[in-house]
Amino acid sequence: MNKLKLRKGDKVLVISGKDKGKSGKILVIFPEKGKAIIEGVNIITKHQKPRSANEQSGIIKKEASIDISNLKLVCPNCGEHTRVSYIVLEDGKKSRICKICGEMLEK
Ligand SMILES: [Zn+2]
Repeated sequence: MNKLKLRKGDKVLVISGKDKGKSGKILVIFPEKGKAIIEGVNIITKHQKPRSANEQSGIIKKEASIDISNLKLVCPNCGEHTRVSYIVLEDGKKSRICKICGEMLEK
């Protein structure tokens, strides 16, 4: 099983599919489905009719989830899209590190 290396709030780059080359922040992550919603990526357009007087009608744009396998982490330190490895800290906690610059991603 693939270990989930991405977390909510991470900046990621889309490496395949129709949004290839786009990047954004992870808004929601669904580990059991292997999917995530990325800010500004995979936008779908919905036409909505108002169901009440207070509701807005018109076109709503929202992000749809995409496969985590299509994503690569963008390191907040060096800005490269990178693979992640783990180190165990002195207190026993694990931290992810960027394989390119070696910087810890959790502080
Ligand atoms: Zn880095």
